[in-house]
Amino acid sequence: MQRYSALNIARHAASGHRHWEPAWRQAAPRRRYRVLIVGGGGHGLATAYYLAKEHGITDVAVLEKGWIGGGNTARNTTIVRSNYLWSASAALYEKSMKLWEGLSADINFNVMFSQRGVLNLGHTLQDMRDIRRRVNANRLNGIDGEVLDQDGVKARVPFINTSADIRFPVLGASWQPRAGIARHDAVAWGFARAADSLGVDVVENCEVTGIRRENGAVVGVDTSRGPIDADRVGVVVAGHAGVLAEMAGFRLPIESHPLQALVSEPIKPILDTVVMSNAIHVYVSQSDKGELVIGAGIDAYNGYGQRGSVQTIEHFLAALVELYPIFSRMRLLRHWGGIVDTCPDASPIIGKTPVGGLFFNCGWGTGGFKATPGSGWAFAHTLATGEPHAINAPFGLDRFETGALVDEHGAAAVAH
Ligand SMILES: Cc1cc2nc3c(=O)[nH]c(=O)nc-3n(C[C@H](O)[C@H](O)[C@H](O)COP(=O)(O)OP(=O)(O)OC[C@H]3O[C@@H](n4cnc5c(N)ncnc54)[C@H](O)[C@@H]3O)c2cc1C
Repeated sequence: MQRYSALNIARHAASGHRHWEPAWRQAAPRRRYRVLIVGGGGHGLATAYYLAKEHGITDVAVLEKGWIGGGNTARNTTIVRSNYLWSASAALYEKSMKLWEGLSADINFNVMFSQRGVLNLGHTLQDMRDIRRRVNANRLNGIDGEVLDQDGVKARVPFINTSADIRFPVLGASWQPRAGIARHDAVAWGFARAADSLGVDVVENCEVTGIRRENGAVVGVDTSRGPIDADRVGVVVAGHAGVLAEMAGFRLPIESHPLQALVSEPIKPILDTVVMSNAIHVYVSQSDKGELVIGAGIDAYNGYGQRGSVQTIEHFLAALVELYPIFSRMRLLRHWGGIVDTCPDASPIIGKTPVGGLFFNCGWGTGGFKATPGSGWAFAHTLATGEPHAINAPFGLDRFETGALVDEHGAAAVAH
């Protein structure tokens, strides 16, 4: 695989950049693999990469029903942070943050990770108490965080509306300086290229239609391109996790909901951080192209259409213009939805299932983009060894029987 480097860019410039190799092969599926990964989003591709890199397992195929990154991976608003409340989540999301910090160099692909900080606004005294508690918990877990008062917020976002007479006045915020954004489709492409270069087959247009089992264990899958056998199967299909679980004969405590986002027309740089408001359900950042990237909470109903309802958009745009009146004259450019897999405790499921050799990684809901490298790293360990790593052990399916939930509703909040 040709490396992406300044020298190679200069070399290829001489021939008009016409001779770059494709970033990954168009692999045709073989009849058998040691490990199959269902779902070619960021999490599935990261899993394949870390299986090859960390565990030397390269007899692996990633089966994607559409195209790489066509799911939530390239539909999200790209917020990356690790300031979750509970120690179990802190370990998982901070592992991911550390991987993000070296990711572009590691996979030789610029994922444009920009640590511009994330603010979570507080609008009531109780919000501020919760923010203090979370920042204290973060610091005890070695995660950066500060509590800002209203002046601190205004210093970072001078045009935010801090009047006392708005519906939800801004009292302060939590601030994680190492948090930020990354370019989402580059993450899918970068992991696909890196996994392919280590020998993994990335198979697009290959839908899994059945999960074959014998004596309580998985033996392979049926696909739109024929049956494929495998020793182990890892399913990482986000909003379709429930559909795949049904194919394997069990149910997951997951609901699939639409989650919408939109971008404005591009403007000159105005916002150099990410601002979220969990209470009034809106968050915003500005992309390198200049577009405002705006999102909200989930649409309340279940569904599999990659779109949402107009009243949700009205709700979050009303919140947006109240908090940032100067955005009221901007025009919207694009709008879309993804299907997110929400768990009752707002935490993921990463581990074993009732079927031997079959593992699921799902339930990331509205906030799994930030976890992409850490999720792949932990799931690769689980698939390679058959057991969860200490980092994902608290996130097993069994927690819904034992009651040892990791309730992150406070930190996962509106979304992300
Ligand atoms: C609008 C929106 C905004 C978001 N914002 C953020 C954010 O700011 N920060 C954050 O951390 N998270 C965010 N998220 C959540 C985040 O995008 C997801 O949690 C994460 O991308 C999930 O990654 P994945 O690889 O598991 O899923 P996906 O990228 O959805 O990949 C799953 C893949 O499985 C494939 N698949 C499904 N069924 C089959 C089948 N039968 N056979 C083969 N393949 C199949 C799909 O085609 C898909 O490509 C947001 C999500 C949305 C929708």
